[in-house]
Amino acid sequence: MTAYPFDAPASQALLERALAVTPGGVNSPVRAFRAVGGTPRFMVSGHGPYLTDADGREYVDLVCSWGPMILGHGHPAVQQAVAAAAAKGFSFGTPSENEVALGEEIVRRVAPVEQVRLVSSGTEATMSAIRLARGYTGRSIVVKFAGCYHGHVDSLLAQAGSGVATFALPDSAGVPKEMAAETIVLPFNDLDAVEAAFAERGSEIAALITEASPGNMGVVPPAPGFTEGLRRITAAHGALLISDEVMTGFRCSEAGWFGLEAGEQGYAAGAPDLFTFGKVMGGGFPAAAFGGRADVMALLAPVGPVYQAGTLSGNPVATAAGLATLQQCTPDLYARLGEVADALTAGLDEHLSAAGVPHVVQRAGSMFSVFFRDGQVRDYDEARAQHVPAFAAFFHSMLSQGVYLPPSAFESWFVSGAHDDVAVDRVLAAIPAAASAAA
Ligand code: PLP
Repeated sequence: MTAYPFDAPASQALLERALAVTPGGVNSPVRAFRAVGGTPRFMVSGHGPYLTDADGREYVDLVCSWGPMILGHGHPAVQQAVAAAAAKGFSFGTPSENEVALGEEIVRRVAPVEQVRLVSSGTEATMSAIRLARGYTGRSIVVKFAGCYHGHVDSLLAQAGSGVATFALPDSAGVPKEMAAETIVLPFNDLDAVEAAFAERGSEIAALITEASPGNMGVVPPAPGFTEGLRRITAAHGALLISDEVMTGFRCSEAGWFGLEAGEQGYAAGAPDLFTFGKVMGGGFPAAAFGGRADVMALLAPVGPVYQAGTLSGNPVATAAGLATLQQCTPDLYARLGEVADALTAGLDEHLSAAGVPHVVQRAGSMFSVFFRDGQVRDYDEARAQHVPAFAAFFHSMLSQGVYLPPSAFESWFVSGAHDDVAVDRVLAAIPAAASAAA
């Protein structure tokens, strides 16, 4: 018997088939509804701001495939570009024009990026950027922040221990201790901790990698001056600064978080050395990238000694989708995303307050999330100190009313240019009952 307002028999039947052939029945863990309970919805189609599940129920989608679908589902310009590219063949294993054009578009948008290399996932992008930073500096240690996710790269699946310069234990079985020992995990938004770690181990540190504005512990933007501070400290110790914009890239602005925070002037302390991108730049297809300073990128094979490759890298269909998507990512689109986020965050705040539910809504551009606790959240410890059962109750009420949220309290919510007033009103209408359920 289900505790939730409606069951999902067709999804349940698919889940049982999936469980027979796939661990947990899913191909990426957070899809499994483990954090909220219940049957994951198997979706069969998406159009505009909506997804339809196997039981024929339609949802306003606030996950947007975890970020990529910035134009909504099935945008006609992207559909056309994909059809045209696919009509010419699927994969050549040679250079092709689409990948040049996509590279040019990225370089045009993000000023400090002089050269890019295309890959097929955000994980590959961060993994390759780390290898490049190690090759460039001849050092091996990487600094990351607790609560920042950079894909399932061995050395980046390390969690925070407490204190400064703590060498983390592996956060996943299968990650060798030696690998985790190459990673220092620090609290986000704590420049003193960064200073102390670099004071102790600076000459061994190849790179500091940070989510440009974290969205993988919920939305926790960097405090003013934090990114600048990272730039200053890494530069002083000869380490590279890698800004992971897989989630924020081309999502927070035309030039991602960098465009939003640093803008035309850049950071006074200088730009990050390397950036990673994914999600939006693939338009829903597997395309991602890393790029940055030309002198660093020049170390990549076939020019330099740092090896990196991919059978499907720069795939002509994926790059056509990405290019067509970015071509629609205009100032008008970002203005609309901002309006939608304004309306939804205001509605959340109003109704959660009215229901007396402790909460804080945090936002980076049009990405936002709700923490079910009082007070600003600045790091992973504060993000974890929320009332997760309240989120689960809120989630299931929204789901039962036809709104699909990320099935975890520690994820960003995403909107798209296809979220018109009808879709926004549907979400707003669902919030009061969900707020009561969470109370
Ligand atoms: N970096 C960040 C900031 C991400 O949010 C993600 C995925 O959510 C990744 C890297 C990994 O990307 P992918 O899932 O495409 O491997």
